[in-house]
Amino acid sequence: MDVAPTPDQEAAIRVAHAWFGRHSGWAPPDPDTLADWVAEGLARCPDECIAAFDGWCAHGLASWWLILRDLEAHPGGRRTLG
Ligand SMILES: [Zn+2]
Repeated sequence: MDVAPTPDQEAAIRVAHAWFGRHSGWAPPDPDTLADWVAEGLARCPDECIAAFDGWCAHGLASWWLILRDLEAHPGGRRTLG
């Protein structure tokens, strides 16, 4: 699978990371949970909204799947959680 996000996905990932900076109490899903979501074609976003697994919610936050895939693609890169 191509790991490069589309420009829209990239924007949603940036929105999510900005959201992380303004909120606390969130935690990434564990891999099994994430796999269940993707199997259904859905994923939660950091604000608990449901979105397409490779999409974003009504608030513009990328799904956890997009966020975690992006982090894996950029280990030790500019984006970190927390
Ligand atoms: Zn939302």
